[in-house]
Amino acid sequence: MSDLYSRHRDVLPEWLALYYKDPLEITHGEGRHVWDADGRKYLDFFGGILTTMTAHALPEVTKAVSEQAGRIIHSSTLYLNRPMVELAERIARLSGIPDARVFFTTSGTEANDTALLLATTYRRSNQLLAMRNSYHGRSFSSVGITGNRSWSPTSLSPLGTLYVHGGVRTRGPFAHLSDADFIAACVADLKDLLGQGRPPAALIAEPIQGVGGFTSPPDGLYAAFRDVLQERGILWISDEVQTGWGRTGDHFWGWQAHGRSGPPDLLTFAKGIGNGMSIGGVVARAEIMNCLDANSISTFGGTQITMAAGLANLTYLLEHDLQGNARRVGGLLIERLRAVAAQLPVVREVRGRGLMVGVELVRPGTDEADPDAAAAVLEAAREGGLLIGKGGGHNTSVLRIAPPLTLTVAEAEEGTAILERALRSVG
Ligand code: PMP
Repeated sequence: MSDLYSRHRDVLPEWLALYYKDPLEITHGEGRHVWDADGRKYLDFFGGILTTMTAHALPEVTKAVSEQAGRIIHSSTLYLNRPMVELAERIARLSGIPDARVFFTTSGTEANDTALLLATTYRRSNQLLAMRNSYHGRSFSSVGITGNRSWSPTSLSPLGTLYVHGGVRTRGPFAHLSDADFIAACVADLKDLLGQGRPPAALIAEPIQGVGGFTSPPDGLYAAFRDVLQERGILWISDEVQTGWGRTGDHFWGWQAHGRSGPPDLLTFAKGIGNGMSIGGVVARAEIMNCLDANSISTFGGTQITMAAGLANLTYLLEHDLQGNARRVGGLLIERLRAVAAQLPVVREVRGRGLMVGVELVRPGTDEADPDAAAAVLEAAREGGLLIGKGGGHNTSVLRIAPPLTLTVAEAEEGTAILERALRSVG
């Protein structure tokens, strides 16, 4: 055990999850690569859990951050803040939400907390709908809408939450159905849950579940849900913490895969927009955003330095069409991984969109999730010089691949080759 690991264990909580038997210490990064404390280089297929949206040490972001640091890092939320206004204007336009207002937070958890505050206040109800197997954060309220039990450490939530089927396409009682029948079954389930009672405030959902294993609900599911919700005045909150900013290639936001539903009432974001700096936020129609009748600030939400990073990062993303890159390179990566998977019975499915790719592992010859194989592949990939993630309910048997969006074709091929060797080493 390294000295740092034993010091970590002596002072930090046991539940603070760490990857690898011999945990890694990353000391620096560049582009799609990071280096550990021993100087070993890794290809980063997890983008620091999707926080490195464009690239490690992107010169444009580093320059914006250091210039801003030389002027002022943070004044006060109580004064005007130019980069905050500028980033809010751009996000409001990109969100697709009419008459949009933006509130900046420090994390995805705080963004979802804020969305819950707004939706429950606006609708005067503490009842919520959330998806089974979902993850929305670690605060007291966001664990109360997190369906993934291994990431929801208390059941004492003040929210009354009903959990809906549909986030996971490949498992569960409706898995055998065609896409259209699957959607119909989930809609029937939703209507049944709602019954005749007073409608809940909102449905919160990740368009593709992240921690839950990069799941792939059929396109149109949330459009079908939306019809049911709108009839009853229930708001739709799209948690875009993992699916936002073009990562899914075909769309800028995950909700757009459910086209005819139009934009959600509220959208939450975090992770990648700051390229590693802490930015989260909520976008909502003005009448919803402005429903609070008391003051509410986030001291560190929207600091000048994080906003400068967000502006530089977003500019780079748009100017270099990284959504297009996610579609092209991600499409190729999925194709290559599917070709590898076809020869390996340990892989049940390669799924994904753009640069959000899941590889689900099973015990060969069965449909049983294989978390041991996933853990072994993670270790073997690291040995081979590749960092990936894992997820997928209480049986974390899905390898998660979400590289920085500047990934090149050569890097996609290099990563596939390393992953293939890692997969072959477990069968
Ligand atoms: N929502 C989703 C979909 C997430 O994946 C996460 C983080 N994994 C969060 C919310 C919480 O974000 P944070 O860790 O920044 O609080």
